[in-house]
Amino acid sequence: MVRNERSVEGVLERIFRSAKATKTKGDVAKYIPELASVDPDRFAISVCLSDGRQLSAGDVSTPFSIQSVSKVFTLAIALGRRGESFWQRVGREPSTNAFNSLQELEVRQGIPSNPFVNAGAIVTTDTILAGSSPAEALAEILLFVQTAASDSGIRIDPSVAESEKLSGHKNWALAHVLAAYDNLAHSCELTLGTYFHHCAIAMTCEQLARSGRFLAGFDTGPQLVRASSVRLINALMLTCGHYNGSGEFAYRVGLPAKSGVGGAILAIVPGKASIATWAPGLDSNGNSLLGTAALEELSHAMGWSVFVRG
Ligand code: GLN
Repeated sequence: MVRNERSVEGVLERIFRSAKATKTKGDVAKYIPELASVDPDRFAISVCLSDGRQLSAGDVSTPFSIQSVSKVFTLAIALGRRGESFWQRVGREPSTNAFNSLQELEVRQGIPSNPFVNAGAIVTTDTILAGSSPAEALAEILLFVQTAASDSGIRIDPSVAESEKLSGHKNWALAHVLAAYDNLAHSCELTLGTYFHHCAIAMTCEQLARSGRFLAGFDTGPQLVRASSVRLINALMLTCGHYNGSGEFAYRVGLPAKSGVGGAILAIVPGKASIATWAPGLDSNGNSLLGTAALEELSHAMGWSVFVRG
């Protein structure tokens, strides 16, 4: 069946209307005080298609904290550094516990399950810090995101970073466990300071959808990563991008995707689309409740899945 761009627009409008009408929206993240005040009624969805068009619905121009979606970009940068022993320091297996589980890190003797759980992302940030100051590393991460999104206006929200620095006790604990197992090259302060700041990148839904085009294989100018890295990142997004909810997400949506506790999800339809959703209410695994429902509806309506012929 040929599905044209008009039909995408119709589906997005329908998704937007049903999201607005839904009463059960989940709970916003409260452990980062700055995120606790975000309006749970916000909803946005945006889709970049292979022909260069971008279609959107909802609060698409309101910036939000991308949080763990930033781990996609830091992984891309870390994989771009040849000669690193990255995969000796981080696993590639889905996690069975929460994204900030100390127990899982302890059981695995300081080797995080994958680069998307917090401990794995902290090691990834530590890798990027090699040979750079935190300011230089953050400038590199921000430039990567700005280039991916074709928007030099994207910024870090320092108040969100500060909020997490003061209240992110589990992340401090994870960093110290990593250090105890000799899996951090830099101090907990330097590594977490950099990590909290890249999690605090603020983007609109439209910017976030554009930032995933390199993972959909679209030609958007400068090549950000090698094709082999795209393959690895998408595989990890599918298996680990929603933490211990990744199996459920693959079952319902069938696309590589990464969530963040700010309520964002970035989902990739290889060769066809880069999709971003934003709905701040989360499910019990810390993934956006309405964002997942929206992607489920869109992927079914469009026949988008990595598991079936499109
Ligand atoms: N900055 C958040 C944290 O470290 C990111 C977690 C997330 O988005 N799942 O807890």
